[in-house]
Amino acid sequence: MPIYEYQCPSCGEIFDKLMRFSEADQVPVCPHCGEKETQKKITAGAVIGASSGGRSSSVSSAPAPRFT
Ligand SMILES: [Zn+2]
Repeated sequence: MPIYEYQCPSCGEIFDKLMRFSEADQVPVCPHCGEKETQKKITAGAVIGASSGGRSSSVSSAPAPRFT
């Protein structure tokens, strides 16, 4: 079971999330500020099944929209 690392674009919090494969497309909320659009970071444990998550990998390369 892969462990994914996420970073919050709002507060910069970095946290690990253990995901079942059935949950791999879900995005966890930031435990620090509640931001819903956290960004998945690539880790060594996330190689398997990485190709199935193309949607979130494209998000990580673009600047997050800010509503201020
Ligand atoms: Zn946050």
